[in-house]
Amino acid sequence: MSSTSEPEERVLEAALRPKNLHDFVGQQRVREQLSLVLEAARIRERTSDHVLLSGPPGLGKTTLAMIIAAEMNAPLRISSGPAIQHAGDLAAILSSLTEGEVLFLDEIHRMSRPAEEMLYMAMEDFRVDIVVGKGAGATAVPLELPPFTLVGATTRAGLLPGPLRDRFGFTGHLEFYSVDELELVLRRSAMLMDLKVNSAGFTEVASRSRGTPRIANRLLRRVRDWALVHQIEQIDARSASQALEMYEVDARGLDRLDRSVLSALCTKFGGGPVGLSTLAIAVGEETETVETVAEPFLVREGLLGRTPRGRIAMPEAWSHLGLTPPAGVFD
Ligand code: ATP
Repeated sequence: MSSTSEPEERVLEAALRPKNLHDFVGQQRVREQLSLVLEAARIRERTSDHVLLSGPPGLGKTTLAMIIAAEMNAPLRISSGPAIQHAGDLAAILSSLTEGEVLFLDEIHRMSRPAEEMLYMAMEDFRVDIVVGKGAGATAVPLELPPFTLVGATTRAGLLPGPLRDRFGFTGHLEFYSVDELELVLRRSAMLMDLKVNSAGFTEVASRSRGTPRIANRLLRRVRDWALVHQIEQIDARSASQALEMYEVDARGLDRLDRSVLSALCTKFGGGPVGLSTLAIAVGEETETVETVAEPFLVREGLLGRTPRGRIAMPEAWSHLGLTPPAGVFD
C-alpha cells in the first residue's frame, strides 16, 4: 500500500511548498535578510552570495533553496552531503553547472573531506583542480566553473569546519515556528487541499505540530483522512484532537519517539545525566535521530536538559509522563 500512498504524499508535499518569499510564512528576520541579499544580487546583475541555512529538519530549508532559485530566475540542482562521498562526485556536479545555477546541498555537514576541500576552491574562485592519473604521474588540471550560488543546508551548523562556514556570504538560522505562524501555514495548506477546518481546529493541529511546518502539514493530512472516514464535513478542535490522539500525538505535540526518549531517561536512568548515545541505544534509534529530531524540541519545551555530564529530565518531563522523580533529584 505504501507504494501507492507515498508518491501521493510527496506530490501533496510538493504542492504545499510556498513558491516565493511572500508566501513563505514566519522566519521574518531570515526572510528580510535573504530578500536583501537577493535584491542586491539582482541589482548588481551578479549571482547571489553563497547561502547557508541551518536549523532542525522540516523548518523550510529545501523550500527556501527552491525560492532562492525561483527569485533569481535560475535553475536549481539538488544534491546532498551523503551523496557526495568522493571529490569526483562533486566535480561531476560542479562541472555540469550552468551560469547562475543554484546548487542546493542538503546535509552539507555529511560531505566527505576531500569533496569539502574541493568545494572551498569552487566557492571562492569558481575553479576546481581535477586530478588526472595516479601516483607520481598524477597532475592537477584546473577547470574554470561558471559563477553559481551554493545553498548549503545543515541541521548541525556547529559540525561544519570553519573554512567552509566562512565561505558562505550569508547564514540564516531557521527557528521553530509559533502556533500562530503554523496556523497560517495550515490555513494555506487546507485551502490548497480543499479542506474545511474551523479556527479552533487549526489551533488544535498547530499546537501539536512541534513548531514545524512539515509536521503541521503531515498532521493535517492525517486529520483529513480521519474526517473523511468519519464523514466529518468541517474539522473542529474536537475532531482534530480525536484524530491526533489516534496517531499518538499528544496535546503538547510529543510523538512516540519524544515520549520514549523522556520515558527512558526517567525510568531507566533515574532522570540522568546520561550520555546521548546511551540514551539513543535505550530507545533503539540512531544517535543523530535523537539529537536532531527529538532533542531540539524537548529542550525547547523545557522537558530535557543538556549538561556537560549528559542529558537530564527536567521537572516538567516527570509531570508530563505522570511520573514522580526519585526523592532528592530536584532538592
Ligand atoms: P529537511 O532538512 O528535513 O529536508 P527542510 O528544512 O528542508 O527539512 P522543507 O522540506 O523545506 O524543510 O519543508 C517541509 C514542508 O514544510 C514543505 O513541504 C513546505 O510545504 C512546508 N513549509 C516549510 N516552511 C514553510 C513556511 N515557512 N511556510 C509554509 N510552508 C512551509
